[in-house]
Amino acid sequence: MPRVINLNDSLENLYGVGPKFAERLGKFSIKTVMDLLWHFPFRYEDFSNISKIGDLKIGQHAVIRGEIVSVKMWKSWKKRMFVIEALVSDGSGSIRAVWFNQRFLITVIKKGITVNLAGKIIETKGGLTISHPIHEIITSLKKDAGDLRHTGRIVPVYPETRGLTSKMLRFLIQPLLKNIGSLEDPLPEEILKSSNLPDLETSLQAIHFPETLRQAQAAQKRFAFEDLFFLQLVNFRQRLRLAREKAYSAEIDLEEIKEMLKKLPFELTRSQKKSLWEILRDLKKSHPMNRLLQGDVGSGKTIVAILAALSIIKDNKQVAFMVPTEVLAQQHYNTFKKIFSGFNKGAGIITSSIAKVFYGDGLESDIKKSEIIKKIKNGEIKIVFGTHSLIQKYIKFSSLAFAVIDEQHRFGVRQRADLLKNNKSGIEIPHLLSMSATPIPRTLTLTVFGDLDLSIIDELPKGRKEIITKIVSPLNRDKAYAFIRDQVKKGRQIFVICPRIDADSSANLPDGTGRSSAPAADDDLDSRATDFSLSLGDQARWRSETFRAADWRSEIKAVKEEYEKLSQKIFPDLKVAMLHGKMKAKEKTEIMKKFKDGEIDILVSTSVVEVGVDVPNATIMMIEGSDKFGLAQLYQFRGRVGRGEHQSFCFLFTDSSSQTTRKRLHSLIEAKNGFELAEKDLAIRGPGEFLGESQTGIPDLAMKAVQNPELVKSGREAAEMILKKDPELKNYPLLKKRLDSFEKKVHLE
Ligand code: ADP
Ligand code: MG
Repeated sequence: MPRVINLNDSLENLYGVGPKFAERLGKFSIKTVMDLLWHFPFRYEDFSNISKIGDLKIGQHAVIRGEIVSVKMWKSWKKRMFVIEALVSDGSGSIRAVWFNQRFLITVIKKGITVNLAGKIIETKGGLTISHPIHEIITSLKKDAGDLRHTGRIVPVYPETRGLTSKMLRFLIQPLLKNIGSLEDPLPEEILKSSNLPDLETSLQAIHFPETLRQAQAAQKRFAFEDLFFLQLVNFRQRLRLAREKAYSAEIDLEEIKEMLKKLPFELTRSQKKSLWEILRDLKKSHPMNRLLQGDVGSGKTIVAILAALSIIKDNKQVAFMVPTEVLAQQHYNTFKKIFSGFNKGAGIITSSIAKVFYGDGLESDIKKSEIIKKIKNGEIKIVFGTHSLIQKYIKFSSLAFAVIDEQHRFGVRQRADLLKNNKSGIEIPHLLSMSATPIPRTLTLTVFGDLDLSIIDELPKGRKEIITKIVSPLNRDKAYAFIRDQVKKGRQIFVICPRIDADSSANLPDGTGRSSAPAADDDLDSRATDFSLSLGDQARWRSETFRAADWRSEIKAVKEEYEKLSQKIFPDLKVAMLHGKMKAKEKTEIMKKFKDGEIDILVSTSVVEVGVDVPNATIMMIEGSDKFGLAQLYQFRGRVGRGEHQSFCFLFTDSSSQTTRKRLHSLIEAKNGFELAEKDLAIRGPGEFLGESQTGIPDLAMKAVQNPELVKSGREAAEMILKKDPELKNYPLLKKRLDSFEKKVHLE
């Protein structure tokens, strides 16, 4: 009796799966019929043309169909394996087929049956041979071409993972597609029509077992569109939702702000002013702001955020300023103390190892963590800077009205949400300002960040010089060292960044660039801890967890080795220091302070300095193994120098002679601004890596499609059209249901 199969059925009960196999599939998060059907091939092999054996040529990849004339098996002692050899004939000629170490085939490849074989044709002592072919038995199953799975057609190839081969997946998926019955399409018919896309059933069939590659492409396009459409719906709904929420509406006193600006040690740039104004206008509204402030490294985002914060504090409401590393928390806190030294309403800093409060000139003290937590809770502290410590359970604000998240891409969606939830009042939602130095390409801002409003600082403060960037091959290492020595003599300081030495985690990335797959390794204990505890449940995470501990160790090893080399062999007469994540926060802070004060000439570091650190006297950024970093990350490193009056340099050391690598590094020299580079980086790395793993739960196809502006546009228009017509999606129950679960996945709630 054929049973009706539902998409949500668990695979265990499915014919042909069984509990053992179900468990294996489960490891890849394939648990239901839907998971299985939505596990798409990433490419296809065209085995659709069956060649005549008589026409075969050496070197050809061919599919043949013939009868097994004879078959034998023996053990090759030399090679210590079982060999099965068969003779196959189709009337036009005959050929040997050979398999190694597949003993079980002897029960399958039997004399007299008809098979399809796909494989490479080689010449051996025994004559023409099809070597280790994929086989498919034709006789016993009375197949017509439409039923073929592995040969004689366009064959799907799935991402290869150990224990889950394409062959197994084809074996499961093909009958499933046949028996699934009719499927309701979540995409409304009018949208399929207007966007010229195939319906769900057609698309599923075509994405797994297309008759032509064109069919497969159309299906891919449909699923990508679907994801983009859903993404946009999520964005629009998110905006609608926020518009209905309440937030504290700040009184904005323009005169007061102008006074404050006059007292700053510098004049804000035009785009800083514009951004500040956009933020203030939002803070005045009675529903929550959700804004992203983008600006190149060194463009001065911090001061803009702090100025905005002051308008909130003025009314005795609270502000939280969350950053990814302790060094950065410290720096922001210090900047605040310096520029607003008279601030007497209570400022503080909290990280895993630092807790301090500040009540105006001279009134600063280290306090117990429990004390600062109390002061945050009772509202005594109005602005607090901190790391992930700010979202630990024990932190509660009395009246958090404004949350700033710096280097927002370093935080996961959940972490950002946690900060906003941290409010005692519970009625009002804090205004949120995210900040990022990674310029986000336009296509991404429309999709992945489509629920955000944007402010852009697109100029650097006056007087900044262009940073001279050079790719340094091993041959020129000594020259570079001599140059460094010369700079130190002139009183300048040097950053040296080391990548981790990674044997396993990045060597085999699909694009072969050897970049690390984890987002910028971050050296802060706080963030490491949260990375592990807040496992976001996606596959990438459980894999990367095991990698990460090792990465971290190897990063430190790299830094230690480099430190020893530079301090003992190359620059024994200079003051060299190192900085890495295993050091105590106090030590790190001490070293950063010494470096800032000019007591250290050369600072060898892991990527800990990537974010935010400000040392105007540093003029050389030297990056070891620069090919191991992403462009955006290199761009960030480079931004650490060129902040003062002196000409600055960036040296990209690389041992790689690969053209691709050089080209990639070269784009750092050519790019006129961060946006241009971001587009390039996006194209090279793909959005998943560009954004970092923790950023999204967005499906692969959509992530690829994000780079297709036409599709993004039509997804957006479709979403707008449907919501305008039916904001609650009352007439589209299935769409609504799918959208809800999609939203959960994307927002990881
Ligand atoms: P980022 O945007 O990378 O976070 P920061 O906020 O750290 O940049 O600012 C970099 C440096 O520039 C800081 O030392 C800051 O005080 C300084 N700065 C900010 N705005 C201006 C300005 N308008 N003119 C001069 N210096 C500025
Ligand atoms: Mg910054």
